[in-house]
Amino acid sequence: MLIELTEGQRIAQKTAREFAAEVAPHNREMDLNGFSQTLHDRMMETGLPGVLLPAEYGGLGGDALSAVIVLYELAKGSASVALSLDANWLGVEAILRHGSDEQKKKYLPMSAGKGYFAFALTEPGAGSDAAAVSAEAKKTADGYVLDGVKSWCTNGGLAGVYIVMARTDCEGGRKGANGISAFIVERANPGLAIGLDEDKMGMRGSRTTNLLLKNCNVGKEALLGKEGGGFKIAMGALDGARVCIAAMGAGITEAALDVSREFANRREAFGAPIANIQAIQFKIAEMAIGLEAAKLLTLEAARKRASGERHTKEAAMAKFFSSSHAVKSAMEAIQIHGARGYSKDVLPELLLRDAKMLEIGEGANEVLLMLIGRAELSGK
Ligand SMILES: Cc1cc2nc3c(=O)[nH]c(=O)nc-3n(C[C@H](O)[C@H](O)[C@H](O)COP(=O)(O)OP(=O)(O)OC[C@H]3O[C@@H](n4cnc5c(N)ncnc54)[C@H](O)[C@@H]3O)c2cc1C
Repeated sequence: MLIELTEGQRIAQKTAREFAAEVAPHNREMDLNGFSQTLHDRMMETGLPGVLLPAEYGGLGGDALSAVIVLYELAKGSASVALSLDANWLGVEAILRHGSDEQKKKYLPMSAGKGYFAFALTEPGAGSDAAAVSAEAKKTADGYVLDGVKSWCTNGGLAGVYIVMARTDCEGGRKGANGISAFIVERANPGLAIGLDEDKMGMRGSRTTNLLLKNCNVGKEALLGKEGGGFKIAMGALDGARVCIAAMGAGITEAALDVSREFANRREAFGAPIANIQAIQFKIAEMAIGLEAAKLLTLEAARKRASGERHTKEAAMAKFFSSSHAVKSAMEAIQIHGARGYSKDVLPELLLRDAKMLEIGEGANEVLLMLIGRAELSGK
């Protein structure tokens, strides 16, 4: 990577690389059996969940660059494990950026190795159109009562703390995006029920569930940021998450390239390794070119986020390119492996199923294209 890493980033990179190597042999097992509590417990011990936390909360004081360095390394070993950490950081960052001192003191230390956070924006009727959120948070004498259904929540059955988006414009007419507020909901709240794990196509080592909010009472202190400010909090968090998804796309592409390189040099056809065939060389070359481009786009978006510059377009560009390239690279890895690539005995088909999620989550790629197009047309 074309940046000078700080000492902390180098340590985080090394730890993530080592943990990815530890996790990789369990990838297929997680694909078959789902989330691994053992690996999750090991993740907590590594210190990686605390990379973004300031030292005063028990973390390493990293930034968006630190996050992408870690997720890129982890995704080479298991994109599922990287996705769970990414979703955790969505919640952590929302509190870091918008929480009161009391909220930070109460919740952030948990994220330094004691448990995960989750971020609940999507609903059965509100995905790309996030302003259509219909879960409600009605005011009570001492706080709010939340009712509604959240869907596709990563770390759903796992997290100790949930950042939940709900409408506070329940009376006096809807205010669109300005009627949405963010709340911190604890797992132990009796009004929060967790649905069954989704039987997903890929990313099967991560847990994704519905959340059911029924008479979920929270105090005034659960409001994150201003009333009506939830949509802005969510969009800011998603900018960061898109950079993280881009890093994971680059990690998956590198895994596809590594496994393809090894196979192409080993497999012989017509009396020589298939690596000698130009058609195979071109596939490898295109994977490698796209990988470098994905890394550069990711680093530039992360650099801008870390320095506080506007980065919505750059995050969308990095996520769009890197996720599409990861899907393409996994497909080419299958092709290079021939019939073996069509088998669940080898990695490429798993990489393809994991990579496909990156084109959908944290803003579907079609929506990102619109965002980028509009930004370009308005000269921003
Ligand atoms: C594994 C996984 C984990 C997830 N984790 C979380 C999480 O932790 N928290 C959370 O809140 N959400 C999460 N999501 C949800 C994710 O963010 C949404 O799936 C995503 O925002 C897209 O919404 P949707 O699935 O409802 O698709 P829809 O919005 O229904 O879109 C369907 C299709 O229509 C296209 N489309 C929609 N509108 C437009 C438009 N205006 N122009 C062009 N095309 C359009 C989309 O691109 C897509 O191809 C997760 C999803 C997955 C798959």
